[in-house]
Amino acid sequence: MDWIRGHTIGHGSSAAVSVAKSRFSDEVFAVKSVELSKSQLLQKEQKILSELSSPYIVTYKGCDVTKEKEKLMFNLMMEYMPDGTLSDEIRKQGGRMNEPLIGYYTKQILQGLEYLHSRSIAHCDMKGQNILVGKTGAKIADFGCANWRDNGTVPIGGTPMFMAPEVASGEEQGCPADIWGLGCTIIEMATGGSPWTNVTNPASLLYRIAFSGQSPEIPKFLSLQAKDFLNKCLRRDSKERWTAKQLLKHPFLEAIQDFVTDSPTSILDQDIWNSVEESETTILQTVSSPLQRLEKPVKEIVQ
Ligand code: ATP
Repeated sequence: MDWIRGHTIGHGSSAAVSVAKSRFSDEVFAVKSVELSKSQLLQKEQKILSELSSPYIVTYKGCDVTKEKEKLMFNLMMEYMPDGTLSDEIRKQGGRMNEPLIGYYTKQILQGLEYLHSRSIAHCDMKGQNILVGKTGAKIADFGCANWRDNGTVPIGGTPMFMAPEVASGEEQGCPADIWGLGCTIIEMATGGSPWTNVTNPASLLYRIAFSGQSPEIPKFLSLQAKDFLNKCLRRDSKERWTAKQLLKHPFLEAIQDFVTDSPTSILDQDIWNSVEESETTILQTVSSPLQRLEKPVKEIVQ
């Protein structure tokens, strides 16, 4: 695909994300880019994302290598999510969300998790910043830490603030850890704050999560059903934690409607594109076969 890079819409710990437009159509999409020599994690993310297809997961659109300002860049193309992250959405809602809205987003995220977990893929970095929001609601994004569970020993990673006890203690990181991360994300939606308070540094936070025997405090103002739902997500013993499939049948989500419609393949939004500044992009090659799985430890980001 021949395309033009527009303005930067996000910066993560590992890559920059820009809006982009096809040279031959009105299609607008997002491009996550990093220098080719440092692109092992992004190539792993590309390998996982390219195998996924769900209305609750950001849609993969391809990858390539470009030469920009004399540097070779690896680019992962995906659908553009115009409303930013779930954390942005919480701020737009005045710092906290009401319960029906929490239920609405929670159900979509869980549907995405059920899809992933049924394919033995764990996301490994569930948090509001990794959920993107668009016209049809929420979709799971940022598969930089994700792993196939049947891949033997995999490195442990993610964001300490959202880590499950078994991850913080270095024991294991599987699908139940995503459910714990979802529980922490629900607290983020309900309070606008972090699941753990009075945190002084990452090491003491990890120690507290792993060994204190505590779970994050469940907000007192939530309904009994919401509290019960959170309680099932935040069980310290991963074997007792409910699965995505079980949680989808929990009464907290029973009344929530599915609003998802087919996501558009192209966003004809001239306003988005009007603000895009063209930069020189030369397509060198299209990467059709992803590189081998990487052994490097996945990133750890401190909130
Ligand atoms: P992290 O530090 O969380 O690991 P990262 O380097 O993996 O970040 P992403 O989280 O994938 O990068 O993206 C960084 C930011 O770019 C997001 O927080 C979001 O604001 C924006 N962004 C990413 N993908 C899209 C998209 N498809 N549509 C719109 N904005 C996006």
